[in-house]
Amino acid sequence: MTLRSLSRRARLVLVALLGVLPVLAACGPSVVAGNPTDYSLNTHEAQRLRWNPCTTVHWRADLRNAPANTLPLVQGAVATLSAKTGIRFVYDGPASYIPQRGGFAQQPSSLIVSFGRAPGRPSASNYLSGGTMVGYGGYLATGAYKGGRVVYSITKGFVVIDANRFPGLSTRTRNALLQHELGHAVGLNHAKYSSELMYPVVGNASPSSYAAGDLTGLRLLGRPAGCL
Ligand SMILES: [Zn+2]
Repeated sequence: MTLRSLSRRARLVLVALLGVLPVLAACGPSVVAGNPTDYSLNTHEAQRLRWNPCTTVHWRADLRNAPANTLPLVQGAVATLSAKTGIRFVYDGPASYIPQRGGFAQQPSSLIVSFGRAPGRPSASNYLSGGTMVGYGGYLATGAYKGGRVVYSITKGFVVIDANRFPGLSTRTRNALLQHELGHAVGLNHAKYSSELMYPVVGNASPSSYAAGDLTGLRLLGRPAGCL
C-alpha cells in the first residue's frame, strides 16, 4: 500500500493493491464453515477503507480473453458479493480494458473484471506475473473533505484474471477465484486459514463461497456498517 498525493488541492489518494493468488490443487472435504474472526481489513487514518455502500457501483467486464460461458459466472460472483455486502452493483456491459498499475484514470467503470495475461503476452497486465498467480484484485481509495475532515472511500475496484490459467480450473475453483478477487476489490485482505475464501491460496478444497470470517469482513465493509 502506498500513499501519494495526486493533487495540490484538498484531496488525497490512497492506492491499495492486493491479491496475489496462487492456485494449489488439493483434495479433501470442501464444506468448511470458517471462523468468524478470521478476516482482515485495511484502515487509513483510523478509517476502514470501503465503498460507500449507499451508492450504486457500476461495473463492466472485459471477457475477450475468457472462455465463452464466463459472463454468467462473473455475474453470479458479483451477485453473491452484493448479497453479502448489501452494496448494489449494476452491470453496464462489456469493456475493452485490461487493468494496469497506474491505470485507474483509464478504467472505464467504477469496477472492472478483466481477463489478461502476464507481461510479454497479448492483453498483458502488469499486475500478473505468470507462474502460479492466477488473479489479482485491488482498489483505489480516495480521500475527500466532508464536514471539515477527510473521509476516505474506495472509488475504483478491479479484478484481473490470468486468461491462460483460468480455462484449466474447475468451475468450482473458477468461482472461488472470482469471489476471492472481488473480495479484494471491496476491501478484504487475506485471511489466515484455508477455511476462508480469502485465504491466499485457492483450490478444489477451498470453500465454495464466502465463509464465516469472509462474511464478517464483508458486513463490516458493506451496508450493515452504514453509509459514508
Ligand atoms: Zn488474494
